[in-house]
Amino acid sequence: MVGQWAPGKRVSNLLRASAVAVLTVAVSCPVGATVDVSANKRLNPPALGDVLYAAGPVADSAATRAPNVAQVPPAQLRRYRTAAGEDVKIWFPDSSVDEAQVEEWVTDFVGSLLHGDELEDVTFVMVAPPEIAGWCGPHAAACYLPIVPYMIIAPSEDPGGPMTAKAILAHEYGHHVANSRSNAPWSALSYGTKRWASYVDVCAATLAEQFFPGDGFEHYALNPGEGFAEAYRVVNERRRGAVEAPWRLVDERFYPDGAAAALIEQDVLNPWAAHTTSTYRGRFTPGGPNRQSFEVATGLDGIATASVRATKGARFRVTQSVATVCGQRITYFTVRRVKGFGKFVLSVSRP
Ligand SMILES: [Zn+2]
Repeated sequence: MVGQWAPGKRVSNLLRASAVAVLTVAVSCPVGATVDVSANKRLNPPALGDVLYAAGPVADSAATRAPNVAQVPPAQLRRYRTAAGEDVKIWFPDSSVDEAQVEEWVTDFVGSLLHGDELEDVTFVMVAPPEIAGWCGPHAAACYLPIVPYMIIAPSEDPGGPMTAKAILAHEYGHHVANSRSNAPWSALSYGTKRWASYVDVCAATLAEQFFPGDGFEHYALNPGEGFAEAYRVVNERRRGAVEAPWRLVDERFYPDGAAAALIEQDVLNPWAAHTTSTYRGRFTPGGPNRQSFEVATGLDGIATASVRATKGARFRVTQSVATVCGQRITYFTVRRVKGFGKFVLSVSRP
């Protein structure tokens, strides 16, 4: 989510409440353990008094009134079409909003964002800026509900400050894009999408406790889920030739250079979906070494696995058949001779 611009105080607890973090159920950390990102936090909305911030926007806030799909009166759910013919669902719960005018910019704008067919899975809840806090929590400028029914609750017009309604909407849509992509074994919502997260080194930085996936509270600025949403926003502003809204919500390491921008585009338009399998051939001979190592290029973070098929009558093993690819762009697999000699084929499945 994105917080609203406000004058004043110093930053303390930058993001006491990202709905994203709050509503994510669990993500795997690089070492394979499970981190409970907070069923409890979800019930514990941000103490707004804790959200003090400097002259900059503050991201925060859980969707405190996150509507249930059943609560969207069917008669009020509007359906529009982008220029490309995609369905855009919008709900205007607030009768003071000029539906015709807002529908037009929202439909055009979301149709112009880098997107895939996830566009048709989300409902845009457009409310007047003063009403946002009631939906998303105090000081929040918008929020995303990352569980079905996916909803983006965003301001119907510019709320004032450096983040326009479009910049805010692009950021929230970035969360929806990530939530609709795979970065197995991690949550793309928390870690960012596959290629982008690998490029930004999210796994290794997380292991080093420099990044905090899913933490929308104390470490909002170092939460790669928020970093991805902001980077996605910037990439779209560049594509449209629009002025970039200030980069103030998250750490500079997430600010997209040209390579990161290209990878975000790929992750949106041609999502990473499956592992690649490569095979390597070798042979053990009498008098030769009993181990052979193979270098495997691992361009993307995730889990790589290996298995070996030995010639008939022989028994060979992969010494460590599962490896977490966490920043290392080369991963080694070693085949060990247990019994017999002859050829073998090593198969490696990598992200
Ligand atoms: Zn966000």
